[in-house]
Amino acid sequence: MTATTPIETALRTAIRDIPDFPKPGIVFKDITPILSNGELFAQTVDALAEQLNKIDVDLIVGIESRGFLFGAALAYKLGLGFVPIRKKGKLPAKTVSREYALEYGTDVIEMHADAITTGHNVVVIDDLLATGGTAKATIELLQEAGATVAAVQFVVDLAFLGGVPVLKSVLPANTPIHALVTYA
Ligand code: AMP
Repeated sequence: MTATTPIETALRTAIRDIPDFPKPGIVFKDITPILSNGELFAQTVDALAEQLNKIDVDLIVGIESRGFLFGAALAYKLGLGFVPIRKKGKLPAKTVSREYALEYGTDVIEMHADAITTGHNVVVIDDLLATGGTAKATIELLQEAGATVAAVQFVVDLAFLGGVPVLKSVLPANTPIHALVTYA
């Protein structure tokens, strides 16, 4: 068992459980108290950057919408560009898209068709990993566009929902999948 780091302890304290949001039975992990605490927000972005210190990265790719908050700050800190992955119909220029399964029905994510150059090494970031469906679709969209996904990062992993194995199924072996806080 690995020791709990100070940032993990601070994040666990800050993240709020909101029961029955957005629908009955879901316990929503509210990360907004991280954002409103300037010191903790900076420490969180620093910790995300630290996880990438041995990885060759060209671009940070953030998933709508809370992945934008951490991803854009991380990109700024690392001096890298940022690419948004959005829900269908939000991006103005030509897009590439991928449909993925939800518990009931399907959803579609989109990326600007010219956002990625073949051979780019990218890091995917979102606030939270649940079942892994959204991040898996993002990884596949990036791979189809010719990128190499060099790492995947989350602030929170709801490990009991089994997202990491889902992501591993589409990533080369040994691709780092990091979370700052894991709920077993
Ligand atoms: P999934 O595709 O199941 O891994 O869901 C991941 C996406 O849904 C992320 O963008 C999360 O922000 C959001 N999400 C799913 N479950 C929760 C939860 N319990 N609390 C907060 N956000 C969640």
